[in-house]
Amino acid sequence: MKKFPIDDFQEVVDDVLVRHRSILDILTKLQESTGKINRAVAKSATYCGCIKIHGEKQEVPMDASYSQLKKYMSNHVQGELCDICKEKVEHELASNFFYLTALCNVFNINIEDMLSNYNEQLKALGKYGLL
Ligand SMILES: [Zn+2]
Repeated sequence: MKKFPIDDFQEVVDDVLVRHRSILDILTKLQESTGKINRAVAKSATYCGCIKIHGEKQEVPMDASYSQLKKYMSNHVQGELCDICKEKVEHELASNFFYLTALCNVFNINIEDMLSNYNEQLKALGKYGLL
């Protein structure tokens, strides 16, 4: 599969974003699209039922090392998104990324450079660099 050039995407977003070019529109649309992601995931559980969300306290043995934590931590999702729900979640994620890209464009932030820098930070700091 050919890699998707993110620079192309930044240009396309810049070309097609006509109505909501104001930073105020971009910020509020970005936030709105995040809410739509949450709604799509919630509806997968409550309306479709292809997934169940079972939140509970994470149980980690007292003697577990930091490097072992990952295997004890649950994402609290049971099942998998069906094709319809996955398509909806992907659509909302893409829309979110569209407005995130628009925000980057306003400030002349190159996404590939930004992610490359962040990737290097993550690799250098490892698990201690996470928020
Ligand atoms: Zn579903």
